Amino acid sequence: MRVAVPPELSAWIAARIASYPAEATEPYHHWEAAAVGEFAALPLIRHWFETFGLRADGEVVRWSTDGDAPYPGTQPVEGRCDWLSALVEGARRWPELAALLPARPPAAVACRCVGHPAFEPGKFLCPECCGLRWVAADAEPVAAADGRA
Ligand SMILES: [Zn+2]
Repeated sequence: MRVAVPPELSAWIAARIASYPAEATEPYHHWEAAAVGEFAALPLIRHWFETFGLRADGEVVRWSTDGDAPYPGTQPVEGRCDWLSALVEGARRWPELAALLPARPPAAVACRCVGHPAFEPGKFLCPECCGLRWVAADAEPVAAADGRA
C-alpha cells in the first residue's frame, strides 16, 4: 500500500528516518534503529514478529523482527486494516502523521469499541474501525429500518 504523502510531510518523514537513532527516546528505538536505516522506513507499529513502517514516499512496508519464519528485506502491507492500524498507531507517536488518516465523514458514528477497555489505544486492535474509533454511518446495521423485519 502506498498512501499519498504531501511533499512537506514526505521530507519530514525522511528527516525522522535519518535522525532516528538521535531522536530515540526508548530502548527499543535504539534496537530497531538499524532496521530503520536499512529499510528506510519509520516504524509505525510493532507486532509479535514484524514491524510495519512508513517510507517517505508513502509506501507501507513490513519487516521481520522475530519468530520462526524470518524473511530478508521488506514485504508489502496490503490489508486495509493492516496499514490503517499502523498509521493510527504511528500518529500516536507523531501527530503529524494524522494527516494521512482518512477524514472522518460528518455522518460517521463512534465505533462500538470506544469505551471498551480491551480496545483502548495500544491494546487489542478493533477489526471494525482498525483503530480509527469511528465507522461510516452506512456501515451500521440497518435491521428493521426497512420495515420488513
Ligand atoms: Zn472500533
